Amino acid sequence: MSEKRQDYISWDEYFMGVAKLAGLRSKDPNSQVGSCIVSPDNKILSIGYNGFPRGCSDDVFPWSREGDELDTKYFYVTHSELNAILNYRGGSLEGSKIYVSLFPCNECSKAIIQSGIREIIYDSDKYGDTPAVIASRKMLDAAGVHYRRYIRSGRELKITV
Ligand SMILES: [Zn+2]
Repeated sequence: MSEKRQDYISWDEYFMGVAKLAGLRSKDPNSQVGSCIVSPDNKILSIGYNGFPRGCSDDVFPWSREGDELDTKYFYVTHSELNAILNYRGGSLEGSKIYVSLFPCNECSKAIIQSGIREIIYDSDKYGDTPAVIASRKMLDAAGVHYRRYIRSGRELKITV
């Protein structure tokens, strides 16, 4: 009888890894964010990344951050968290948790709160000082949605595809 593997990845590494893998699907040249929604018993319920809504072609809609407002991405892009929530077709997300590679903005936090997600595990918090994220934390605190920073293991995962 052989012993079980000891170097298998943890749940946190697995779900954050899936979130980051999803982010690689984004066509945004500046920001690739991924989300992975997980049930209380560690089943993946949904995945999302930042992109334009269905039918809104990446070749037609703009990815720029500057210029005339209508020519920037901000009016059109759907963030990974919202995409993951909207992609879910299984019923309720009540009590679930979301792994996301970047701390959610205020708009996504509204959706997270309203969908019943109870915990956020985030990696980067590089916009932590911006009004959008300050507002985000304010709402999450009021709604009792717990958030914690993902602790990187430093493990590099290599997958050949
Ligand atoms: Zn957002």
